[in-house]
Amino acid sequence: MSKDYDNDSIEDIFTRFLSAGKFRKTPERFAILRKALDMNSHFEVDALHIAIEKDGYHVSRATVYNTVELLNQAGILRKNAFGQNPAIYEVNRDNHIHLICKRCGKIREIENPHIASQVMQLNPGNFLPDSYSITLYGICGECSLKD
Ligand SMILES: [Zn+2]
Ligand SMILES: [Zn+2]
Repeated sequence: MSKDYDNDSIEDIFTRFLSAGKFRKTPERFAILRKALDMNSHFEVDALHIAIEKDGYHVSRATVYNTVELLNQAGILRKNAFGQNPAIYEVNRDNHIHLICKRCGKIREIENPHIASQVMQLNPGNFLPDSYSITLYGICGECSLKD
């Protein structure tokens, strides 16, 4: 998903996804979508739930989990496979590289247009790539100072 999409068109994408899958278009699901777009970074589903409740909007934890899964299937959110539990989600915008500290778990992002075009030009054969995920694991600056 490119970052040109504004929040309204993301809601349209979700509306079409829900219709196509015959899922109910409930106000709760759209409130969860709007809050997820607001999170603006990497988040766990429970943190999203807490943020929604803080806004004074009551939805059950199960509804938040279930909606986040739908948003993932719709390609609006991306579930990151960092091997962390619980899973970390983010808005599925442009491809970027994640740097993960093995000590404190902090996640940083960098972009590298050169690597991006290289990766997208890989021709694995019998496969059409449309996105990628690169994760580098190591020790962040702050943690390395504590040695
Ligand atoms: Zn660290
Ligand atoms: Zn990210």
